[in-house]
Amino acid sequence: MEKEKFYLTTTLPYVNASPHIGFATEIIRADVIARYQKGLGKDIFFNTGTDEHGQKIYDKATEAGKTPQEYVDGYSAEFQKIIPLLGISSDIHFVRTTDDHHKIAAQEMWRRCVANGDIYKANHQVKYCKGCELEKTDSELEDGKCPLHTTYEIEIREEENYFFRFSKYQEALLELYRKNPTFVVPEFRLKEITSFVEGGLQDFSVSRLKSKMSWGIPVPDDEDHVMYVWFDALTNYISTTGWPEKEDFGGWWPGIQFAGKDNLRQQSAVWQAMLLSAKLPTSKQIYIGGFINSGGQKMSKSLGNVISPHELVERYGTDATRYLLLRHVHPYEDTDITWERLDEWYTANLVNGLGNLTSRILKMSETYLDKSPYSQGVEVMNAVRNDTKEREFEYALRSFNLQVAIDEIWRIVGQIDLQITHEEPFKVVKEDKKKAKEMIEVYLYYLVRIGLLVEPFMPETSKTILDAIKTNKKPENLFPRLL
Ligand SMILES: [Zn+2]
Repeated sequence: MEKEKFYLTTTLPYVNASPHIGFATEIIRADVIARYQKGLGKDIFFNTGTDEHGQKIYDKATEAGKTPQEYVDGYSAEFQKIIPLLGISSDIHFVRTTDDHHKIAAQEMWRRCVANGDIYKANHQVKYCKGCELEKTDSELEDGKCPLHTTYEIEIREEENYFFRFSKYQEALLELYRKNPTFVVPEFRLKEITSFVEGGLQDFSVSRLKSKMSWGIPVPDDEDHVMYVWFDALTNYISTTGWPEKEDFGGWWPGIQFAGKDNLRQQSAVWQAMLLSAKLPTSKQIYIGGFINSGGQKMSKSLGNVISPHELVERYGTDATRYLLLRHVHPYEDTDITWERLDEWYTANLVNGLGNLTSRILKMSETYLDKSPYSQGVEVMNAVRNDTKEREFEYALRSFNLQVAIDEIWRIVGQIDLQITHEEPFKVVKEDKKKAKEMIEVYLYYLVRIGLLVEPFMPETSKTILDAIKTNKKPENLFPRLL
Protein backbone atom coordinates (compact mmCIF):
# COMPACT_ATOMS: atom_id res chain seq x y z
CA MET A 1 0.00 0.00 0.00
CA GLU A 2 1.27 3.44 -0.87
CA LYS A 3 1.98 5.64 2.11
CA GLU A 4 0.00 8.82 2.71
CA LYS A 5 1.94 11.88 1.59
CA PHE A 6 2.60 14.85 3.82
CA TYR A 7 4.14 18.12 2.61
CA LEU A 8 5.44 20.80 4.94
CA THR A 9 7.52 23.90 4.22
CA THR A 10 9.09 26.78 6.10
CA THR A 11 9.34 30.20 4.53
CA LEU A 12 12.55 30.89 2.64
CA PRO A 13 14.63 33.38 4.61
CA TYR A 14 15.93 36.35 2.69
CA VAL A 15 19.71 36.09 2.62
CA ASN A 16 20.68 39.60 3.63
CA ALA A 17 21.63 38.59 7.19
CA SER A 18 22.67 35.51 9.15
CA PRO A 19 20.02 33.06 10.36
CA HIS A 20 18.16 34.54 13.32
CA ILE A 21 16.31 32.99 16.22
CA GLY A 22 12.88 33.57 14.64
CA PHE A 23 13.72 31.43 11.64
CA ALA A 24 15.47 28.87 13.87
CA THR A 25 12.24 28.51 15.84
CA GLU A 26 10.17 28.20 12.68
CA ILE A 27 12.31 25.44 11.16
CA ILE A 28 12.58 23.53 14.47
CA ARG A 29 8.79 23.62 14.83
CA ALA A 30 8.33 22.41 11.28
CA ASP A 31 10.88 19.68 11.93
CA VAL A 32 8.90 18.45 14.93
CA ILE A 33 5.76 18.16 12.81
CA ALA A 34 7.69 16.44 10.00
CA ARG A 35 9.19 13.91 12.42
CA TYR A 36 5.86 13.37 14.15
CA GLN A 37 4.02 12.74 10.86
CA LYS A 38 6.82 10.44 9.74
CA GLY A 39 6.36 8.52 12.99
CA LEU A 40 2.69 8.07 12.04
CA GLY A 41 3.89 6.24 8.93
CA LYS A 42 3.54 8.99 6.33
CA ASP A 43 5.88 9.86 3.48
CA ILE A 44 7.29 13.31 4.16
CA PHE A 45 8.32 16.14 1.88
CA PHE A 46 9.93 18.76 4.11
CA ASN A 47 11.06 21.94 2.36
CA THR A 48 13.19 24.95 3.21
CA GLY A 49 15.68 27.07 1.31
CA THR A 50 16.83 30.59 0.62
CA ASP A 51 15.20 33.59 -1.07
CA GLU A 52 17.99 35.22 -3.06
CA HIS A 53 16.78 37.90 -5.47
CA GLY A 54 15.76 41.53 -5.08
CA GLN A 55 16.93 45.03 -4.58
CA LYS A 56 18.18 44.71 -1.02
CA ILE A 57 20.46 41.79 -1.89
CA TYR A 58 21.68 43.59 -4.98
CA ASP A 59 22.57 46.62 -2.82
CA LYS A 60 24.22 44.55 -0.08
CA ALA A 61 26.32 42.65 -2.62
CA THR A 62 27.43 45.89 -4.25
CA GLU A 63 28.31 47.27 -0.82
CA ALA A 64 30.39 44.18 -0.09
CA GLY A 65 32.16 44.47 -3.46
CA LYS A 66 30.78 41.14 -4.64
CA THR A 67 28.61 40.01 -7.50
CA PRO A 68 25.09 39.19 -6.31
CA GLN A 69 25.69 35.53 -7.12
CA GLU A 70 28.87 35.37 -5.00
CA TYR A 71 27.06 37.15 -2.23
CA VAL A 72 24.04 34.80 -2.17
CA ASP A 73 26.23 31.70 -2.52
CA GLY A 74 27.99 32.64 0.71
CA TYR A 75 24.78 33.29 2.61
CA SER A 76 22.95 30.27 1.28
CA ALA A 77 25.82 28.08 2.50
CA GLU A 78 25.50 29.69 5.91
CA PHE A 79 21.79 28.89 6.05
CA GLN A 80 22.43 25.29 5.02
CA LYS A 81 24.69 24.92 8.05
CA ILE A 82 21.85 25.48 10.47
CA ILE A 83 20.24 22.21 9.39
CA PRO A 84 22.78 20.03 11.28
CA LEU A 85 23.29 22.74 13.91
CA LEU A 86 19.62 22.58 14.96
CA GLY A 87 19.20 18.84 14.48
CA ILE A 88 16.81 19.28 11.53
CA SER A 89 15.92 16.12 9.55
CA SER A 90 18.81 15.58 7.17
CA ASP A 91 16.51 14.58 4.29
CA ILE A 92 15.00 18.09 4.15
CA HIS A 93 14.79 19.62 0.65
CA PHE A 94 16.71 22.84 0.24
CA VAL A 95 15.56 25.05 -2.63
CA ARG A 96 17.42 28.18 -3.73
CA THR A 97 15.53 30.73 -5.77
CA THR A 98 18.64 31.07 -7.95
CA ASP A 99 18.39 27.36 -8.91
CA ASP A 100 17.82 26.97 -12.65
CA HIS A 101 14.81 24.76 -12.11
CA HIS A 102 13.19 27.27 -9.79
CA LYS A 103 13.63 30.01 -12.40
CA ILE A 104 11.81 27.92 -14.99
CA ALA A 105 8.97 27.30 -12.53
CA ALA A 106 8.64 31.00 -11.64
CA GLN A 107 8.45 31.87 -15.34
CA GLU A 108 5.78 29.23 -15.89
CA MET A 109 3.80 30.65 -12.97
CA TRP A 110 4.05 34.07 -14.64
CA ARG A 111 2.87 32.71 -17.99
CA ARG A 112 -0.16 31.06 -16.42
CA CYS A 113 -1.15 34.25 -14.64
CA VAL A 114 -0.74 36.11 -17.96
CA ALA A 115 -2.86 33.47 -19.71
CA ASN A 116 -5.60 34.10 -17.18
CA GLY A 117 -5.49 37.85 -17.88
CA ASP A 118 -4.07 38.73 -14.46
CA ILE A 119 -0.78 40.38 -15.37
CA TYR A 120 -0.89 43.72 -17.17
CA LYS A 121 1.40 46.69 -17.80
CA ALA A 122 0.74 50.05 -16.15
CA ASN A 123 2.38 53.20 -14.98
CA HIS A 124 2.35 53.57 -11.30
CA GLN A 125 3.72 55.48 -8.37
CA VAL A 126 4.34 53.46 -5.24
CA LYS A 127 5.71 53.87 -1.76
CA TYR A 128 8.24 51.15 -1.17
CA CYS A 129 10.08 49.85 1.90
CA LYS A 130 13.36 48.29 0.89
CA GLY A 131 13.61 46.61 4.29
CA CYS A 132 10.45 44.58 3.64
CA GLU A 133 10.85 44.60 -0.16
CA LEU A 134 7.18 45.56 -0.13
CA GLU A 135 5.00 48.37 -1.34
CA LYS A 136 3.37 50.16 1.53
CA THR A 137 -0.01 51.80 1.82
CA ASP A 138 -0.28 55.01 3.85
CA SER A 139 -2.09 53.18 6.64
CA GLU A 140 0.93 50.88 7.06
CA LEU A 141 3.36 53.75 7.60
CA GLU A 142 4.05 55.59 10.84
CA ASP A 143 5.41 59.13 10.49
CA GLY A 144 6.06 58.31 6.85
CA LYS A 145 8.26 55.33 7.74
CA CYS A 146 7.87 51.57 7.85
CA PRO A 147 7.49 50.69 11.56
CA LEU A 148 9.60 47.56 11.01
CA HIS A 149 12.43 49.44 9.28
CA THR A 150 12.73 52.91 10.71
CA THR A 151 16.30 53.23 9.47
CA TYR A 152 15.17 52.95 5.82
CA GLU A 153 13.67 55.89 3.95
CA ILE A 154 10.45 55.04 2.15
CA GLU A 155 11.09 55.27 -1.57
CA ILE A 156 8.66 56.76 -4.04
CA ARG A 157 8.86 54.74 -7.23
CA GLU A 158 7.35 55.63 -10.55
CA GLU A 159 7.85 53.36 -13.47
CA GLU A 160 6.12 51.26 -16.05
CA ASN A 161 5.71 47.86 -14.50
CA TYR A 162 3.74 44.71 -14.78
CA PHE A 163 0.94 44.45 -12.27
CA PHE A 164 -0.81 41.47 -10.79
CA ARG A 165 -4.60 41.69 -10.65
CA PHE A 166 -4.83 41.00 -6.92
CA SER A 167 -8.10 42.98 -6.68
CA LYS A 168 -9.86 40.34 -8.78
CA TYR A 169 -9.35 37.73 -6.04
CA GLN A 170 -11.03 39.40 -3.09
CA GLU A 171 -14.18 37.28 -3.22
CA ALA A 172 -12.34 34.04 -4.03
CA LEU A 173 -9.98 34.55 -1.09
CA LEU A 174 -12.81 35.31 1.31
CA GLU A 175 -14.56 32.17 0.15
CA LEU A 176 -11.36 30.17 0.68
CA TYR A 177 -11.18 31.44 4.28
CA ARG A 178 -14.89 30.84 4.90
CA LYS A 179 -14.75 27.28 3.62
CA ASN A 180 -11.65 26.41 5.65
CA PRO A 181 -12.01 27.72 9.20
CA THR A 182 -8.55 26.36 10.06
CA PHE A 183 -6.91 27.51 6.84
CA VAL A 184 -4.77 29.88 8.89
CA VAL A 185 -3.75 28.83 12.43
CA PRO A 186 -4.17 30.43 14.94
CA GLU A 187 -7.72 31.64 14.41
CA PHE A 188 -6.94 35.26 15.24
CA ARG A 189 -4.55 35.38 12.27
CA LEU A 190 -7.30 34.08 9.99
CA LYS A 191 -9.50 36.92 11.27
CA GLU A 192 -6.69 39.38 10.65
CA ILE A 193 -6.17 38.32 7.05
CA THR A 194 -9.92 38.14 6.46
CA SER A 195 -10.35 41.75 7.50
CA PHE A 196 -7.35 42.77 5.42
CA VAL A 197 -8.94 41.20 2.34
CA GLU A 198 -12.39 42.58 3.20
CA GLY A 199 -10.81 46.03 3.25
CA GLY A 200 -10.22 45.75 -0.49
CA LEU A 201 -7.19 44.57 -2.46
CA GLN A 202 -4.96 46.69 -4.64
CA ASP A 203 -3.19 45.31 -7.67
CA PHE A 204 0.53 45.35 -7.06
CA SER A 205 3.58 45.58 -9.22
CA VAL A 206 5.29 42.26 -10.00
CA SER A 207 8.21 43.41 -12.09
CA ARG A 208 11.17 45.78 -11.95
CA LEU A 209 12.90 47.51 -14.79
CA LYS A 210 16.05 45.57 -15.52
CA SER A 211 17.92 48.80 -16.22
CA LYS A 212 17.36 49.84 -12.59
CA MET A 213 17.70 46.50 -10.88
CA SER A 214 18.85 43.46 -12.79
CA TRP A 215 19.03 40.91 -9.96
CA GLY A 216 15.88 38.92 -10.61
CA ILE A 217 14.34 36.24 -12.79
CA PRO A 218 13.70 37.54 -16.32
CA VAL A 219 10.05 38.20 -17.16
CA PRO A 220 9.07 35.83 -19.99
CA ASP A 221 8.88 37.56 -23.38
CA ASP A 222 10.05 40.98 -22.15
CA GLU A 223 13.74 41.46 -21.73
CA ASP A 224 13.35 44.90 -20.12
CA HIS A 225 11.88 43.50 -16.91
CA VAL A 226 12.77 41.11 -14.10
CA MET A 227 10.28 39.63 -11.68
CA TYR A 228 9.46 41.15 -8.35
CA VAL A 229 11.21 39.07 -5.67
CA TRP A 230 8.04 37.94 -3.87
CA PHE A 231 6.40 36.67 -7.04
CA ASP A 232 9.49 34.61 -7.75
CA ALA A 233 10.12 33.41 -4.21
CA LEU A 234 6.59 32.26 -3.35
CA THR A 235 6.67 29.89 -6.30
CA ASN A 236 9.36 27.87 -4.49
CA TYR A 237 6.65 26.03 -2.56
CA ILE A 238 5.71 24.20 -5.73
CA SER A 239 8.92 24.45 -7.78
CA THR A 240 10.57 22.33 -5.08
CA THR A 241 8.23 19.42 -5.91
CA GLY A 242 9.39 19.33 -9.54
CA TRP A 243 6.54 21.44 -10.92
CA PRO A 244 5.89 22.35 -13.76
CA GLU A 245 7.45 19.22 -15.32
CA LYS A 246 5.46 17.25 -12.78
CA GLU A 247 2.05 18.77 -13.35
CA ASP A 248 0.71 16.84 -10.32
CA PHE A 249 3.58 18.05 -8.06
CA GLY A 250 4.64 14.42 -7.62
CA GLY A 251 1.55 14.09 -5.39
CA TRP A 252 2.96 16.46 -2.75
CA TRP A 253 0.99 19.67 -3.20
CA PRO A 254 -1.16 21.14 -1.61
CA GLY A 255 0.91 21.37 1.54
CA ILE A 256 1.25 23.05 4.90
CA GLN A 257 3.26 26.27 5.24
CA PHE A 258 4.95 27.59 8.37
CA ALA A 259 5.66 31.32 8.59
CA GLY A 260 6.08 34.25 10.94
CA LYS A 261 3.44 36.93 11.47
CA ASP A 262 5.25 39.39 9.19
CA ASN A 263 4.51 36.93 6.38
CA LEU A 264 0.78 36.56 6.92
CA ARG A 265 -0.27 38.62 3.92
CA GLN A 266 2.16 37.06 1.45
CA GLN A 267 1.41 33.47 2.46
CA SER A 268 -2.31 33.53 3.03
CA ALA A 269 -3.45 36.12 0.48
CA VAL A 270 -0.87 36.95 -2.22
CA TRP A 271 0.35 33.39 -2.77
CA GLN A 272 -3.18 32.00 -2.72
CA ALA A 273 -4.30 34.55 -5.32
CA MET A 274 -1.32 33.59 -7.51
CA LEU A 275 -2.29 29.92 -7.24
CA LEU A 276 -5.92 30.70 -8.06
CA SER A 277 -4.84 32.77 -11.05
CA ALA A 278 -2.61 29.95 -12.32
CA LYS A 279 -5.51 27.53 -11.74
CA LEU A 280 -3.48 25.50 -9.26
CA PRO A 281 -4.65 24.13 -5.89
CA THR A 282 -4.42 26.55 -2.96
CA SER A 283 -2.35 25.63 0.11
CA LYS A 284 -3.71 23.14 2.63
CA GLN A 285 -2.98 25.15 5.75
CA ILE A 286 -0.81 27.99 7.02
CA TYR A 287 0.63 28.21 10.50
CA ILE A 288 1.69 31.67 11.69
CA GLY A 289 4.06 32.17 14.64
CA GLY A 290 4.76 35.31 16.66
CA PHE A 291 7.99 37.27 17.13
CA ILE A 292 10.72 36.70 19.69
CA ASN A 293 11.88 39.78 21.56
CA SER A 294 14.52 40.19 24.22
CA GLY A 295 14.34 42.34 27.30
CA GLY A 296 11.09 43.91 26.13
CA GLN A 297 12.54 45.01 22.78
CA LYS A 298 12.96 43.76 19.27
CA MET A 299 16.37 42.09 18.94
CA SER A 300 18.82 44.37 17.19
CA LYS A 301 22.54 44.69 16.79
CA SER A 302 22.51 48.27 17.99
CA LEU A 303 20.72 47.33 21.23
CA GLY A 304 23.13 44.44 21.76
CA ASN A 305 20.29 42.10 22.72
CA VAL A 306 20.53 39.65 19.81
CA ILE A 307 20.42 35.98 20.81
CA SER A 308 21.57 33.93 17.83
CA PRO A 309 20.87 30.24 17.14
CA HIS A 310 24.65 29.62 17.17
CA GLU A 311 25.04 31.09 20.65
CA LEU A 312 22.10 29.05 21.93
CA VAL A 313 23.57 25.79 20.66
CA GLU A 314 26.97 26.69 22.00
CA ARG A 315 25.59 27.27 25.48
CA TYR A 316 22.93 24.56 25.76
CA GLY A 317 23.53 22.05 22.97
CA THR A 318 21.27 21.20 20.03
CA ASP A 319 18.46 19.30 21.73
CA ALA A 320 18.24 21.69 24.66
CA THR A 321 18.04 24.61 22.22
CA ARG A 322 15.18 22.84 20.47
CA TYR A 323 13.48 22.30 23.82
CA LEU A 324 13.89 25.93 24.89
CA LEU A 325 12.47 27.33 21.65
CA LEU A 326 9.66 24.78 21.43
CA ARG A 327 8.42 24.99 24.96
CA HIS A 328 9.25 28.47 26.10
CA VAL A 329 8.40 30.43 22.97
CA HIS A 330 4.65 30.84 22.62
CA PRO A 331 3.32 29.05 19.54
CA TYR A 332 1.10 31.94 18.44
CA GLU A 333 1.94 35.11 20.40
CA ASP A 334 5.11 37.18 20.76
CA THR A 335 7.54 35.96 23.41
CA ASP A 336 10.21 37.73 25.39
CA ILE A 337 13.36 35.79 26.22
CA THR A 338 16.58 36.71 28.01
CA TRP A 339 19.71 34.68 28.82
CA GLU A 340 18.68 34.69 32.50
CA ARG A 341 15.33 33.13 31.72
CA LEU A 342 16.81 30.62 29.29
CA ASP A 343 19.30 29.52 31.98
CA GLU A 344 16.49 29.11 34.50
CA TRP A 345 14.38 27.01 32.14
CA TYR A 346 17.37 24.89 31.18
CA THR A 347 18.32 24.17 34.77
CA ALA A 348 14.83 23.65 36.16
CA ASN A 349 13.36 21.51 33.39
CA LEU A 350 16.29 19.78 31.74
CA VAL A 351 19.08 19.45 34.34
CA ASN A 352 16.80 18.99 37.36
CA GLY A 353 13.85 17.71 35.31
CA LEU A 354 14.26 15.20 32.52
CA GLY A 355 18.03 14.75 33.02
CA ASN A 356 17.74 14.03 36.72
CA LEU A 357 14.74 11.72 36.33
CA THR A 358 16.53 9.69 33.66
CA SER A 359 19.63 9.16 35.79
CA ARG A 360 17.57 8.40 38.91
CA ILE A 361 15.59 5.66 37.20
CA LEU A 362 18.51 4.17 35.29
CA LYS A 363 20.73 4.19 38.35
CA MET A 364 18.13 2.05 40.14
CA SER A 365 17.56 -0.16 37.16
CA GLU A 366 21.29 -0.72 36.61
CA THR A 367 21.78 -1.55 40.29
CA TYR A 368 18.77 -3.75 41.00
CA LEU A 369 17.61 -5.29 37.71
CA ASP A 370 19.65 -8.07 36.10
CA LYS A 371 18.58 -6.89 32.70
CA SER A 372 16.25 -4.36 31.16
CA PRO A 373 12.67 -5.48 30.44
CA TYR A 374 13.27 -3.64 27.16
CA SER A 375 16.48 -5.39 26.21
CA GLN A 376 14.73 -6.63 23.03
CA GLY A 377 14.52 -2.98 22.04
CA VAL A 378 12.28 -1.75 19.27
CA GLU A 379 9.48 -4.32 19.34
CA VAL A 380 8.84 -4.13 23.04
CA MET A 381 9.14 -0.39 22.97
CA ASN A 382 6.66 -0.18 20.12
CA ALA A 383 4.14 -1.91 22.33
CA VAL A 384 4.59 1.01 24.71
CA ARG A 385 4.21 3.40 21.78
CA ASN A 386 0.73 2.03 21.22
CA ASP A 387 -0.14 2.78 24.85
CA THR A 388 1.13 6.27 24.34
CA LYS A 389 -1.65 7.78 22.27
CA GLU A 390 -2.27 10.73 24.46
CA ARG A 391 -5.29 12.50 23.05
CA GLU A 392 -4.24 15.90 24.33
CA PHE A 393 -0.78 15.44 22.85
CA GLU A 394 -2.04 14.48 19.41
CA TYR A 395 -4.59 17.26 19.28
CA ALA A 396 -1.92 19.79 20.24
CA LEU A 397 0.35 18.57 17.47
CA ARG A 398 -2.43 18.76 14.91
CA SER A 399 -3.09 22.39 15.83
CA PHE A 400 0.65 23.14 15.86
CA ASN A 401 0.52 23.97 19.55
CA LEU A 402 3.87 22.41 20.32
CA GLN A 403 4.01 24.09 23.68
CA VAL A 404 0.95 22.20 24.92
CA ALA A 405 2.32 18.97 23.43
CA ILE A 406 5.65 19.30 25.20
CA ASP A 407 3.95 20.41 28.44
CA GLU A 408 2.14 17.09 28.30
CA ILE A 409 5.49 15.22 28.27
CA TRP A 410 6.77 17.26 31.19
CA ARG A 411 3.56 16.51 33.07
CA ILE A 412 4.58 12.84 32.94
CA VAL A 413 8.16 13.74 33.95
CA GLY A 414 6.82 15.58 37.02
CA GLN A 415 4.39 12.80 37.88
CA ILE A 416 7.01 10.05 37.90
CA ASP A 417 9.39 12.22 39.83
CA LEU A 418 6.73 12.66 42.51
CA GLN A 419 5.86 8.99 42.47
CA ILE A 420 9.49 8.01 43.09
CA THR A 421 9.79 10.49 45.94
CA HIS A 422 6.57 9.20 47.44
CA GLU A 423 7.26 5.45 47.05
CA GLU A 424 10.89 5.64 48.25
CA PRO A 425 12.17 2.64 46.29
CA PHE A 426 15.60 2.96 47.95
CA LYS A 427 14.00 2.09 51.29
CA VAL A 428 11.71 -0.57 49.88
CA VAL A 429 14.61 -2.45 48.29
CA LYS A 430 16.09 -3.18 51.72
CA GLU A 431 12.91 -4.91 52.91
CA ASP A 432 11.26 -6.31 49.81
CA LYS A 433 13.48 -6.70 46.76
CA LYS A 434 10.71 -8.12 44.57
CA LYS A 435 8.41 -5.22 45.27
CA ALA A 436 11.20 -2.72 44.60
CA LYS A 437 11.96 -4.39 41.26
CA GLU A 438 8.33 -4.09 40.24
CA MET A 439 8.37 -0.42 41.11
CA ILE A 440 11.49 0.15 39.04
CA GLU A 441 9.87 -1.62 36.09
CA VAL A 442 6.94 0.77 36.29
CA TYR A 443 9.31 3.76 36.32
CA LEU A 444 11.11 2.31 33.32
CA TYR A 445 7.83 1.88 31.49
CA TYR A 446 7.09 5.56 31.92
CA LEU A 447 10.60 6.51 30.95
CA VAL A 448 10.15 4.56 27.70
CA ARG A 449 6.96 6.51 27.10
CA ILE A 450 8.78 9.78 27.73
CA GLY A 451 11.62 8.68 25.45
CA LEU A 452 9.16 7.93 22.65
CA LEU A 453 7.05 11.06 23.09
CA VAL A 454 10.07 13.34 23.17
CA GLU A 455 11.47 11.95 19.89
CA PRO A 456 10.15 14.60 17.45
CA PHE A 457 11.17 17.38 19.82
CA MET A 458 14.61 16.15 20.96
CA PRO A 459 15.67 13.30 18.70
CA GLU A 460 19.17 12.80 20.15
CA THR A 461 17.93 12.84 23.74
CA SER A 462 15.22 10.35 22.83
CA LYS A 463 17.80 8.02 21.35
CA THR A 464 20.11 8.33 24.36
CA ILE A 465 17.28 7.58 26.80
CA LEU A 466 15.92 4.61 24.85
CA ASP A 467 19.41 3.16 24.27
CA ALA A 468 20.20 3.51 27.96
CA ILE A 469 16.99 1.69 28.89
CA LYS A 470 17.69 -1.06 26.41
CA THR A 471 21.25 -1.64 27.62
CA ASN A 472 20.29 -1.02 31.27
CA LYS A 473 23.08 1.46 31.76
CA LYS A 474 22.84 4.94 33.24
CA PRO A 475 23.82 7.47 30.53
CA GLU A 476 26.33 10.28 30.91
CA ASN A 477 24.77 13.49 32.13
CA LEU A 478 22.08 14.29 29.56
CA PHE A 479 22.18 17.98 30.39
CA PRO A 480 25.35 19.25 32.07
CA ARG A 481 24.95 21.97 34.67
CA LEU A 482 25.77 25.45 33.45
CA LEU A 483 29.05 26.81 34.73
ZN1 LIG B 1 9.74 47.60 6.16
